[in-house]
Amino acid sequence: MTLTDIATPSVFETVESEVRSYCRAWPVVFERASGSRLYDEQGRPYLDFFAGAGSLNYGHNNPVLKRALLEYLGNDGITHGLDMSTTAKRDFLKTFHTTVLEPRALPYKVMFPGPTGTNAVEAALKLARKVTGRQTVVSFTNAFHGMSLGSLAVTGNAAKRAGAGVPLPHAIRMPFDDYLDGQLPDFMWFERLLNDAGSGLDHPAAVIVETVQGEGGINVARAEWLRALAELCRRHEMLLIVDDIQMGCGRTGDFFSFEEAGITPDIVTLSKSISGYGLPMALCLFRPELDVWQPGEHNGTFRGNNPAFVTATAALDAYWRDGALRGRTLSRADRVERALLDLCGGDGRTGLSVRGRGLVWGLEFADGERADAVCRRAFETGLLVETSGPNGEVVKLLPPLTATDDELDEGLGILARSVRHTA
Ligand code: PLP
Repeated sequence: MTLTDIATPSVFETVESEVRSYCRAWPVVFERASGSRLYDEQGRPYLDFFAGAGSLNYGHNNPVLKRALLEYLGNDGITHGLDMSTTAKRDFLKTFHTTVLEPRALPYKVMFPGPTGTNAVEAALKLARKVTGRQTVVSFTNAFHGMSLGSLAVTGNAAKRAGAGVPLPHAIRMPFDDYLDGQLPDFMWFERLLNDAGSGLDHPAAVIVETVQGEGGINVARAEWLRALAELCRRHEMLLIVDDIQMGCGRTGDFFSFEEAGITPDIVTLSKSISGYGLPMALCLFRPELDVWQPGEHNGTFRGNNPAFVTATAALDAYWRDGALRGRTLSRADRVERALLDLCGGDGRTGLSVRGRGLVWGLEFADGERADAVCRRAFETGLLVETSGPNGEVVKLLPPLTATDDELDEGLGILARSVRHTA
């Protein structure tokens, strides 16, 4: 390979690993981004309804966050700080406490695991096992919790699990809300196993759940299902972990997606949009009495990403000191739902179905090929959307929460034309 080869666009094919994924769906080279749009190096705009897989709830290069970051960097603020105490971390902790935890009467301690979602989940699982002295963790059909071995063990998708190359033990699966089409009362099977000493189920340490399964196909758990799960966990002394990595930070309206159900999980994982600027950052939150960690017991070099703390603080200050963003998200949920229902047609002839909450929506097709074709056509006509679900049959919409009404309508229009074009 020569240097000239490396300088050509095919460097992605010749040098980068086969593991690359999103760039295959969107085969252009992106150069810059602002708000709800990315631009490729030819200057062509793309409306972004994927928002960095949910890590850009406040849009690309949000000016308020950018200003705070530039000022911090301009003052030689600490970029890498291991988990040393820094002014940026102090500001974040104070702001998170006053804007998020205190107003919701959430008593959580804040842990900084490694800066990815999967590492926050690993920390949550480790902590639940350490606190209870038990090993089994219950997760749900079609759950997605990350790609490292512990989080893969509680993930459902067969293709992703296959990448582990080793058994994925100490986890068992229960049906998610509506998995059995309402044919069995909620948690009947789960509770029967828990109550039967002959069931073979080792008493679980914890249950881990997403309130809306993002990667699993935008499966929305009902609030009463979540409440019944919290109650089941309480009765059987299992810790409840809510993985709010994709659905937290306002995606469903409230800051935490579980607020609507009125439950208080024992442990919560957050990542993706917590930094607000696409900078890697993750949190594991838990009740203070669960804070049994020894110093350094879950360590990591990049737990002190101070630029991420700066943008996270700016995001909380700008968007979570009042209920404006929440109200805006909830009111726009109706607008998106109406447009998608129109697209489905009322008579069931299109075979499409729609589901979602807040500003996360899924449009389900009969198969993954059709959903892929819709995403391809959307890309060709200037909209980035991706598929999810066990067979990639659901087109997933995750517009930035800051998208304007015009941008929402524009994206929904491109999507509608893409659906018709591929019919
Ligand atoms: N948990 C949930 C619910 C997710 O949606 C994801 C990523 O999509 C993860 C965990 C893993 O996060 P990361 O990709 O940052 O490791």
